[in-house]
Amino acid sequence: MIGVLYIEDNEDDILLVKMSLKGYGEVTGARSWNEAKELLETRKFDIVLLDYNLRGEDGLEVLNEILSRYRLPVIMVTGQGDEETATRAMKLGAADYIVKSVSSFSKIRKVIEDALEKHRLEEEKRRLEEEIRRTNLELEKSNKFKDLLIDILHHDLMNPAGLAMSFVELIETSCEDEETLEYLEIVKRNLNKIICLIEDVKELSKLENIKTLEKCEIKLTELWEKVLDEYSSLLTGREVKFIRDSEGCIIGNEIVKEVFSNLLSNALKYSPDGTPIIIRVWDEGDYSITSIADLGEGIPDEYKQSIFNRFTRFDKAGVKGTGIGLAIVKRIVELHNGEVWVEDNSPRGSVFYVKLPKGHA
Ligand code: ADP
Repeated sequence: MIGVLYIEDNEDDILLVKMSLKGYGEVTGARSWNEAKELLETRKFDIVLLDYNLRGEDGLEVLNEILSRYRLPVIMVTGQGDEETATRAMKLGAADYIVKSVSSFSKIRKVIEDALEKHRLEEEKRRLEEEIRRTNLELEKSNKFKDLLIDILHHDLMNPAGLAMSFVELIETSCEDEETLEYLEIVKRNLNKIICLIEDVKELSKLENIKTLEKCEIKLTELWEKVLDEYSSLLTGREVKFIRDSEGCIIGNEIVKEVFSNLLSNALKYSPDGTPIIIRVWDEGDYSITSIADLGEGIPDEYKQSIFNRFTRFDKAGVKGTGIGLAIVKRIVELHNGEVWVEDNSPRGSVFYVKLPKGHA
């Protein structure tokens, strides 16, 4: 049985509603707003029926107070011809209204059932909105904390690391002992790792905070030429084949160059010296696609997706990088509404694909 509080100064109406709800609701009558308040403070009700013309009270004010203080669904009970008032009450948050008459009271159970369902849905919506608001606040807080940590990392670690590197290089210039030079090389390599990690983390965090990029018409083949030029010293002894089936015209940002340099750097890192790397740019429908294929160790199926997450490496024993490069790649491609994925190469190695919308100038 549901608990119904009927605020009404007419005994006969209370009796009529009690009879109409027999077996479904336990109706308690309150003859005044003061009596109703006492009952609301001490007992639990599921719904309130409120006579709009309660003696000495403003029906809409009472409605307001019930809604804000007790958060219960309220059905207004109005006299004949009071539809305008009823509409105002609905705007203020009443769940429904019913006109005082024997024929309306016979349908009151259905009106109450609908009002309870509406109230349940509204409460659920309110609860979810509150949960989303709280989660957003927490996310905002942890995001601020992450930005602060990255700033500290960048400012307070980068400087000492750079300073240490300068001293190592200074010692190198005046050192002739082979063994010491070897050790200095190891120190330099490790300092470089720290510097690259800090730079990559900073870069990824910057990209994660960006929502859109400025875009203009760019040619992927031209970006590749710049990347190959920058990598020229690392490419000696490697055969790099560049197949241009199209110019790869897209509407994008020059930052796509970072996608290509990361993928080329990985292809070089994870495939043996002397093996070829094949780059191809072509168009397919509304997209320009680039593939970078190597004959390296390849990537097991179970890691083909997760390597695009931060700090995911499947071969932990031979860590060669920071584990952030592909996360940066994925974010830049996302900012272009594109896709990036990896497949097996034949007979071995991997092929990374970058699919970017051609767009219109
Ligand atoms: P890292 O700095 O470790 O290279 P990335 O995010 O660029 O970080 O790559 C994540 C991981 O994906 C690498 O550690 C490596 O295990 C794997 N990987 C990336 N590219 C290749 C490739 N061409 N061949 C084989 N494995 C690759």
